[in-house]
Amino acid sequence: MLIDTYGRVATDLRVSLTDRCNLRCTYCMPEEGLHWLAKPDLLTDDEIVRLVRIAVTRLGITEVRFTGGEPLLRPGLTGIVERLAALEPRPRMSLTTNGIGLARTAGALKAAGLDRVNVSLDTLRPDVFKTLTRRNRHHDVLAGLDAARAAGLTPVKVNSVLMPGLNDDEAPDLLSWAMAEGYELRFIEQMPLDAQHGWRRQSMITAGDILESLRTRFTLTPEASAERGSAPAERWIVDGGPHRVGVIGSVTRPFCAACDRTRLTADGQIRTCLFATEETDLRAALRSGTGAAGTGPDADGGTGPGSDEEIARIWRLAMWGKKAGSGLDDPAFLQPDRPMSAIGG
Ligand code: SAM
Ligand code: SF4
Repeated sequence: MLIDTYGRVATDLRVSLTDRCNLRCTYCMPEEGLHWLAKPDLLTDDEIVRLVRIAVTRLGITEVRFTGGEPLLRPGLTGIVERLAALEPRPRMSLTTNGIGLARTAGALKAAGLDRVNVSLDTLRPDVFKTLTRRNRHHDVLAGLDAARAAGLTPVKVNSVLMPGLNDDEAPDLLSWAMAEGYELRFIEQMPLDAQHGWRRQSMITAGDILESLRTRFTLTPEASAERGSAPAERWIVDGGPHRVGVIGSVTRPFCAACDRTRLTADGQIRTCLFATEETDLRAALRSGTGAAGTGPDADGGTGPGSDEEIARIWRLAMWGKKAGSGLDDPAFLQPDRPMSAIGG
């Protein structure tokens, strides 16, 4: 198990497949000038499959979420999903994507074994989308959502971030639309993880603001806390049901005590928290052994450098050092050097 000193057990693994993206969301990336991870540092498809296999078969991971950057930009994605779907026990697999390209790939991803998608869409207005993401691709995201639903990648969840003065008036419209389309909507508070360090606590749209705005049109009843479990989203029943809406208040309503996450970056670093300033290098361990990418003698049986057992041990140790909370409320809080796009949101 991946257990920490506070007794939390990580069962949910976020795997970042790339730090690159075809959008430039203002709360995530600068327009230009971001340095990409170097190609030789990126985990290969074989290395990703091997690390996830170790996490699933030795460390108790039951949920795997692919993210990035934009995970659909990874050419080997379908093959990775297919190989992981063959694992025993089979993990549940989902994808967080901006939806561009999903219209083409949803069917193949479903056939490969992907269970679900989360698609990020912050606005129903194409002009606002262009301002927020610096790209004119609103239509592609809507087409991707349609395709995901048609392919059975359900429940399709939609993630929305509200930005002051841009789309903060859209919460009720987004909810009406999501309910009509059969998507589960979750609002995410803007977090201090953008590469350009533009986040300001005073101006961010809080979970409280979002709920107040939704209540101008809907009656919201809190879902029983037992149903929330370790899920970060607090959920509300809309107008008596059956629809629900989630709000992830990472900044103003943190859920660290119930966190069940561990993260693997595209360059093979373990992070115990989005906001961690320390990482543990699994890639070096992985490449130090004699067994290349899970095929050599150390990969399955041994306990030496680069063996499955050694990698599992390093991962357990990293999780043991997980901090109690994100530190956001500490006046000495320091934004991590690694931006959201290179961590995997
Ligand atoms: N490119 C994919 C996407 O946009 O869904 C996956 C990666 S993205 C980093 C994952 C999620 O993080 C998205 O829902 C995005 O809206 C969210 N996100 C990015 N930057 C954020 C920030 N500074 N605060 C809150 N959420 C953010
Ligand atoms: Fe790309 Fe997702 Fe970041 Fe937007 S939030 S720039 S889509 S990685």
